[in-house]
Amino acid sequence: MGETPRVVTKLVGILLAWLPGLSSRFVLLVAGLFLALSVVMIMVASYLDLRDEEQRAVSDAKAIGATVSRLAVPHLTNHHYLILEQELESIAASGVVEFAQVYDPARTVTIDSDPDTSYFDETENHALVREVLDTGHDQLRQTRERVEIALPVRDMVSGDMLGTALVSVKRMPVNGMLLSIWGRNIVITLVLLVFCVPVTIHFAENFVRPINALTQAAHTVSSGNFDAPFPVDRKDEIGVLARAYRDMVATIRNNMARIHELAYVDPVTRLPNRESFRQHFNANMEGAGGKPNRVCVLFIDLDRFKRVNDSYGHDHGDALLKEVATRLQRLLDTRARDGAAGKESVDRKPAFAPLVARLGGDEFAVVLPAEMPMEDLRLFAEQLVQCVEQPLEISGLTMAVGASIGVSVYPDDGEDYTAILKNADIAMYAAKRTGGNRACFYQEIESDSHAHERIRLEAELKIALLRDEITIVFQPKIDCTSMSVVGAEVLARWNHPDRGLLSPGCFIDVAEESGLITRLGERVLDLACRQGRVWLDAGQRMPLAVNVSIRQIEQPGFTTRVLETLDFTGFPAELLQLEVTETVAMADPEQVSEATGPLLKAGITFAIDDFGTGYSSLAHLQRLPFNTFKIDQSFVSGLAGDHHSRSIVKTILAMAKSLRYEVVAEGVETIDQQAFLMENGCTTAQGFLFARPMPADRFEAWAAAFTRPQGAQADPASPDRNSASGCAA
Ligand code: C2E
Ligand code: CA
Ligand code: CA
Repeated sequence: MGETPRVVTKLVGILLAWLPGLSSRFVLLVAGLFLALSVVMIMVASYLDLRDEEQRAVSDAKAIGATVSRLAVPHLTNHHYLILEQELESIAASGVVEFAQVYDPARTVTIDSDPDTSYFDETENHALVREVLDTGHDQLRQTRERVEIALPVRDMVSGDMLGTALVSVKRMPVNGMLLSIWGRNIVITLVLLVFCVPVTIHFAENFVRPINALTQAAHTVSSGNFDAPFPVDRKDEIGVLARAYRDMVATIRNNMARIHELAYVDPVTRLPNRESFRQHFNANMEGAGGKPNRVCVLFIDLDRFKRVNDSYGHDHGDALLKEVATRLQRLLDTRARDGAAGKESVDRKPAFAPLVARLGGDEFAVVLPAEMPMEDLRLFAEQLVQCVEQPLEISGLTMAVGASIGVSVYPDDGEDYTAILKNADIAMYAAKRTGGNRACFYQEIESDSHAHERIRLEAELKIALLRDEITIVFQPKIDCTSMSVVGAEVLARWNHPDRGLLSPGCFIDVAEESGLITRLGERVLDLACRQGRVWLDAGQRMPLAVNVSIRQIEQPGFTTRVLETLDFTGFPAELLQLEVTETVAMADPEQVSEATGPLLKAGITFAIDDFGTGYSSLAHLQRLPFNTFKIDQSFVSGLAGDHHSRSIVKTILAMAKSLRYEVVAEGVETIDQQAFLMENGCTTAQGFLFARPMPADRFEAWAAAFTRPQGAQADPASPDRNSASGCAA
């Protein structure tokens, strides 16, 4: 490639880069217009100048002709031809007149300005002269080079025509004239251009400057600064554009503010919300030089808030939340003003600003720098508790709530926001479980790993119930004489997101202790009745036994809820059996009767679970509304070698027979156990010999295929024989 094309390409590039600009286009336009105007001007000027010149030549010719004609009168009258000839020669010598001639028709003499000729010479008359002689009027003829005029010479007194005068006046050459006109105009144009182009550039720049300012403002706005000033104080179109622009930005700013508010502000308390809290934590967990900041999270859950909400309504609940929010914010502000716990010197700037947020419901949280000693943190947590527990006045009503606070510190108690918040939540739970209205530090509860595990499990179970992680399985009950399925026991399972399917052994106790058993029981009953109804609709009447805890029965509203569930799901009451453990004997018999009465009336039956383990007096049990015993699996498993177990089972069966109780033997794992039970009159059995508990679809298939288990082995794959106490399901 040669040098030239590269230079050309470069030039074109520069021109293209230059031309898109408004100001360059404007300058180019003005210069173009100016040049076009100059050309038109030159044309017009040329035309006018030419016409002027022509008129001037004609009027010169006329004036000179008239002069010559007047001059000739006395000379023609007196025949002074020689004098006239000299005068004509002198006229021609001036240079303007090319040729002058007088003709005397009386003597046919022609006198002219040519010094080489004489009036004696015979000459032919000029055509114009002849015409004047014919017509007696002036005659004019123009050519490119000259203007010729012929006119009569008349006697001043009589007016008789004495002769003719002819004058030829030279014209300026057109080319030379045009050249001078063009030259002049081009010089003017160039001079004007030299002044005009910089002025145009100046105006163009001035014109473009507000647009540039507008562009600059737009860039600033798009980089997030909505306060960029706009050049709006103009009356022209740019001013209109700028105002439209400013209004648009204002609308966007308002919308952004609204979006920000929706995303980051809690609508009830106007405090930052959970997301805002998370971002604040994450933004401040790292200090200068990549070193982690010590960050403290205080998780605050109100005690007894639900009661306020339920008894006084949501308006009062919201007002209470607002008041609590104000108090927490005020406490934080005071702390910021006076220094942490009043000890920290005011001029030592904290690593970051503390923040209080509402995480949702009755949960608040505070995040603050934790550079101070633990004692100060404890003091602050106490202050929080105190500030919440002060009675509140809402619409004339005095109310009181408490605060259970869990405290965790980054990076000691967790490696990120999620872990810190979760551990603060666990600590809060510990505070709540130990009476509430106090603060617990995660570090302190962690040392007791068992307690910690239980607390964590409880927190997780609470979530599991909300997320429908609780499912059910079915274990068949078999009539050993007919070898048919006479029902199934419904057993709870927890489909844990991390630990897989969990058996009740690892969560029922926690559920009982925490009171979550009520919700868990309701969920199991609901699932069982729904499934029972599905089977019923498919033509299979499957009696179902559902476990209920004594704590459930003691809850007010238990009876109604069971009846409502039956009503709602359409599962018949007579197909439902409720299993209650023998501990029921320890409960208040009156309360139990009151709860079970309507259920019995509806057709529900009751079974005593784990019978034989509770040392309860038979006389006492007899007063309770049960018609089935379930022999605990510990006796069944002891049948093979343990004499004691054999006698207990025999006794229970004999007693059941005399009292007309039905008996179900649990945990039957071998043919021998089954044989012993049958010999002693127990017909219904349940255990791995027949089947393990299984989900509904597998239960259906199993029940359809079930025949006599004589040839069958004990239910295979039983890795955990005693799954009732183990955890894996
Ligand atoms: P349970 O009512 O005595 O239930 C029988 C338990 O024995 C079940 O354990 C069952 O899987 C197990 N099992 C059945 N056959 C055999 C066998 O042949 N060998 C052995 N070793 N075990 C057998 P699971 O499902 O782990 O339940 C444990 C306990 O959890 C239940 O004992 C019951 O007291 C409680 N439970 C289960 N679901 C619920 C529920 O929905 N509500 C309440 N309140 N308690 C429940
Ligand atoms: Ca049971
Ligand atoms: Ca049992």
